[in-house]
Amino acid sequence: MSCVEFKKLGKTDVNLPVLGLGTWGIGGMMSRHLGGEENQVQALRLGLELGMRFIDTAEMYASGHSEEVVAMAVEKKRESVFIATKVSPQNLTYEHVLRSCESSLRRLKTSYVDLYQVHWPNPSIPIGGTMKAMEKLVEEGKVREIGVSNFSAQQTREAEEALSRKGIASNQVEYSLTERSIEEELLPYCGREHVTLIAYSPIARGQIPGGGRDARWRVLDSIAQKYSKTRTQVALNWLIRKEPVVAIPKAANLEHVKENAGSAGWRLRKEDQDALNDAFT
Ligand code: NAP
Repeated sequence: MSCVEFKKLGKTDVNLPVLGLGTWGIGGMMSRHLGGEENQVQALRLGLELGMRFIDTAEMYASGHSEEVVAMAVEKKRESVFIATKVSPQNLTYEHVLRSCESSLRRLKTSYVDLYQVHWPNPSIPIGGTMKAMEKLVEEGKVREIGVSNFSAQQTREAEEALSRKGIASNQVEYSLTERSIEEELLPYCGREHVTLIAYSPIARGQIPGGGRDARWRVLDSIAQKYSKTRTQVALNWLIRKEPVVAIPKAANLEHVKENAGSAGWRLRKEDQDALNDAFT
């Protein structure tokens, strides 16, 4: 059941679990929601125990409270968890990035984040200043690796070119069986340039396990049956079989966490991977 697979993060030496833990909705949605943290911490801890030792959060989630819940979940085991957080698009000037990072570190109760990501591009703030701040944070030991999110191939290249020492380690974008638009340009770009693609909403915000009954879903169901896996497990395995892709499903329900952890450690055969590619085009 545990996730024991890893991929190299970008061009770094970091071994990243192929499945991480999303946190949108943990601690609240756009604003902080107090209450329910105990269960959320329990779900994150179970995910960590099952090998998904990679948590994705953001300063935007629950106005920072998501980062605080993550801090509770990783208490006393910080060193064994890969923590990724994000700076919001309105905070991308040099000074703002430094300030946002300090606030995230304070909420996360840690002295460094493993991956600091630009949450969304902001065309009205030049990427040069943002990346300079990122490099300063790396120099100061507050950030280990630099990532982006929701960047096109062209925007990722521009971010890369604005860096003088480090490279862009990852780009976090929406990717699932039902949302495949990144396959045309961004996925091949990331493959060529060794930028890890972190797939968000990898089970389409719960749509895949719920799902429909038409022909494409029947293909998914018959493959799931063949491997004695669930729809979700097949859909996540289909994603992590692709290079250079890792996925970050979010689950607050303990049964969901266990099910998701069982998506790694086995392999869809090529003909089944291809059948899913064709069914969900
Ligand atoms: P998701 O992971 O595709 O789906 C989450 C939903 O699916 C939750 O309602 C969850 O319910 C349910 N679920 C999880 N596992 C399940 C299972 N095995 N069976 C049935 N239902 C299951 O969607 P997401 O939260 O949008 O994306 C994942 C993470 O990506 C986010 O949490 C966030 O960290 C990140 N993200 C990033 C961006 C960005 O702009 N960079 C945007 C969106 C998301 P329960 O919680 O009740 O278990």
